[in-house]
Amino acid sequence: MRRTKDAKNPYRLSESVSPTAYFVRWIPNQKIFALSADTREHLIKKMNEPEAKELFMFCGAVEINLSLARATETVTLHAHDLKITDGYIDKDGIRHGARSVKYNKKYQTATLSFGKKIGAGACWLYIEYSGTLNDDMCGAYGTTYQDGDVWRYGIATQFEATDARRVFPCFDEPAKKATVEFSLDIPHDLTALSNMPVEYETSTGAVKIVTFKTTPRMSTYLMAFTVMKFEYIEATDRYGVKVRVYTTPGKKEHGRFGLEVALHTLPALADYYGMKYPLPKLDLVAIPDFAAGAMENWGIETFRETALLVDPKNDSVAARERIADVVDHELAHHWFGNLVTMYWWNHIWLNEGFADFVENKMVDLQFPAWERTLRFISESVLAALHAMDKKNSHPIECEVQNPEEIRENFDTTTYSGGGSVNLMNEQYLTEEGFRKGLREYLQTYAYGNATTQNLWDMIERATGKPIRSVMGTFTRNTGYPLVTVEEQENKEATTRRFKLSQERFLFDGSKDKKNQTWTIPIGTTARNASKPTYSYMFGKNMMLEVPVRPGDWVKFNPGTTSLYRVLYPPYIRNELRAAVKAGDLGPADRIGLLDDVFALAKAGHVPMVEAVETLSAYEKESSYYVWSMIAGALGDIDHILHPGVRMPDDAYTHFREYAKNFFADPARVMTWNKRGDETNASILLRALALRCFGGYGDTETITTARAKIDAFLAGEPLDPDIRQAVYILNAENGGPEALKKLMRVYDSTEDHQEKIRVLRAIGKTQDPDTVRRVLDLAVSNKVRKQDTVIVFVNTDKNQAALPIVWNYIKKNWKLLYARYHGDGIRHLGNIVGVAKRFKTEDMYRDVKRFFADHPLKGAKRTMAETLEEIRLNIAIRKRDKDSIARWFAERASARGPVSLTLTTEALMTELPELR
Ligand SMILES: [Zn+2]
Repeated sequence: MRRTKDAKNPYRLSESVSPTAYFVRWIPNQKIFALSADTREHLIKKMNEPEAKELFMFCGAVEINLSLARATETVTLHAHDLKITDGYIDKDGIRHGARSVKYNKKYQTATLSFGKKIGAGACWLYIEYSGTLNDDMCGAYGTTYQDGDVWRYGIATQFEATDARRVFPCFDEPAKKATVEFSLDIPHDLTALSNMPVEYETSTGAVKIVTFKTTPRMSTYLMAFTVMKFEYIEATDRYGVKVRVYTTPGKKEHGRFGLEVALHTLPALADYYGMKYPLPKLDLVAIPDFAAGAMENWGIETFRETALLVDPKNDSVAARERIADVVDHELAHHWFGNLVTMYWWNHIWLNEGFADFVENKMVDLQFPAWERTLRFISESVLAALHAMDKKNSHPIECEVQNPEEIRENFDTTTYSGGGSVNLMNEQYLTEEGFRKGLREYLQTYAYGNATTQNLWDMIERATGKPIRSVMGTFTRNTGYPLVTVEEQENKEATTRRFKLSQERFLFDGSKDKKNQTWTIPIGTTARNASKPTYSYMFGKNMMLEVPVRPGDWVKFNPGTTSLYRVLYPPYIRNELRAAVKAGDLGPADRIGLLDDVFALAKAGHVPMVEAVETLSAYEKESSYYVWSMIAGALGDIDHILHPGVRMPDDAYTHFREYAKNFFADPARVMTWNKRGDETNASILLRALALRCFGGYGDTETITTARAKIDAFLAGEPLDPDIRQAVYILNAENGGPEALKKLMRVYDSTEDHQEKIRVLRAIGKTQDPDTVRRVLDLAVSNKVRKQDTVIVFVNTDKNQAALPIVWNYIKKNWKLLYARYHGDGIRHLGNIVGVAKRFKTEDMYRDVKRFFADHPLKGAKRTMAETLEEIRLNIAIRKRDKDSIARWFAERASARGPVSLTLTTEALMTELPELR
């Protein structure tokens, strides 16, 4: 185990005291379960009345079997907002009462002093304590749900990363694993769920005491329980594990798809990892109020409703894809994370990077038609490239000490960066070799903890390949490289020679002072090449000969599978643009090329006009995932040219016309109506094309969207797959009237998928007064806390609303801070992150001043990166706005009327081929 740096961390507990078993009895005030009201808002009002405060108290008793490495007079363990009322140690049958308890608020600990030395060896520590349920969605917290005609109050938990200590005094570090036996006191008509199945229930009058079976050795952050009125559906997987989906009353059938996914993937993972699922049961529980997407508590995964449930009436491809992703992600953790846990939080990528990668594999296995591997490139790899290119970015293996730093580490770099490194690992080791290494690692460290070094060691032992020196550079260094390609003179007629050099890529084109180098998997593909070839770049420079005729195109990073960008000389960029036009490149390469050229243009390595020119090579695109990139690239240009709150100028009008025409073909070909058996990609493309075509001003599309919502409100059906587009186009093009209609949809349903669609849409409102009303709504009791963020985040590309949103944030800071302190800080970070779209010096100063006056522990990096982004926006506008405005003006005068160049059949038959 590691001692070096960790030993100096004052937030860490002593290494000489280790728990081996917990017995926890937890007793909430039973009166809270009797609270009820006819609407959710009434229930929340009731809960906020001053006399209701004591309702939220709980008390408990915990017995901990300890192993003391040496004699000690004191024991320090974690306790956050808990009051210890009694404590003693039982050593060899002799009881030593605690003389005093000292709390340390900063380190979230309690120290019990016994007044004399307790000898080394095993002993029992017994503590009685009390605490309070919170409404911050961490520790043990309250959640509201509908039970028939009334609203009631239930309890859920979220312990990752450091909140088990809010619920019972414990040694709340991932490496302090122990077994645990939970007992809860609850009313007879409710269900309690926890990591293990119920061992027995005893009745004491009005309550029952539910005791769960003892867990295997596990980390405290993976423990969980929940108390509500639940219903469930169940099935047994092909290895005999009982899997249940639990929901609040009336929703169990919405869990069918989630159950189907779990039944497929749980045994598929056992096959992949070569180890059976370690627990006797698995519950997937939908929790109405939930801060994250989902949580992999061992044996009891908890989910936000939108990540697990889909109402057949509102069933959409987007919802199903998300559910499959999240369920498979959490399932992957039962081995990677739960069975073998990172030793400390700086290795959190060992959890999240693997779940991110394996999730994609499992979804692809179950739904091969979904193009999940292509989505992995367009989502995970690209997300990592965009997260890791800031000056304030952190390495994937990142030193963290305190709860705020730990919390901030759960970000795109850890998830998608870690996932992308695993894609590179697999490519380097082969699928078989990678799996062998993982199995070795899981078997060696089962029920224990491990570091990144342990993983590399096990892979090297299993495969004989030096993975640490090759891939370790991507987890230890900050960021990723830019590979600059220069062609060398070559007399051979069958090859081209290149000189490559590397340096860190930074999104604003600045130089990295650290002089890092990476071991880069340099792959190339070329015209007429049967498959890509790979060699590894170890130092600053490298010479490379590629078997391709001079004049034929050659592309590096084939399939965009690796974390680096490529800067070619201008004539090679031309060759590649021609290759896109000619249809020579596959979708993953088209995605990578477009993303690279825009990132390089923003950083000033290539002219922005060239990025725009490259985009125009994609006019005949057929893949949804590339279209999605195109929409993003047009969004970037929109951001540069948008005049803000002023009237649109010529440049912006020309651009909008161009962007609209871009989507004219797919929008008109797809139409609003599905045909027969369409692929997911085709269904998603319809929604995207209509949303963008209308979004850039096609009046017929907007009119149809208006008619569709009216008909829907009048009781006619509306295809759930186009609802998001319909709602957004209404919000974008209507003031208070549109908001009223959308809120009618919101109020008429308890289905979270549908509510979320509305919340996303209303973030696109343009008219200032209505924007203010939207924001008031977002922070009202109508909207659950986790969903408020959705409204704010969806205003970020809404240039007209941005200044209003920012003023609203500043004016209502106290309210927002009260809503999201503690673990919710991440949400608040996302909310203030909307400021990254500003693009003037005035706003830069304003945001900077506000951040300086309102620092957020746990969102420090988000704030720093927001300022970095505003700086870059200002630079880009200064440098590129006029040149791209000219480009669009020239295009506008040269262009004739819009023509329909693709036929329905061509597009429909092309899509499935691109899988
Ligand atoms: Zn995860």
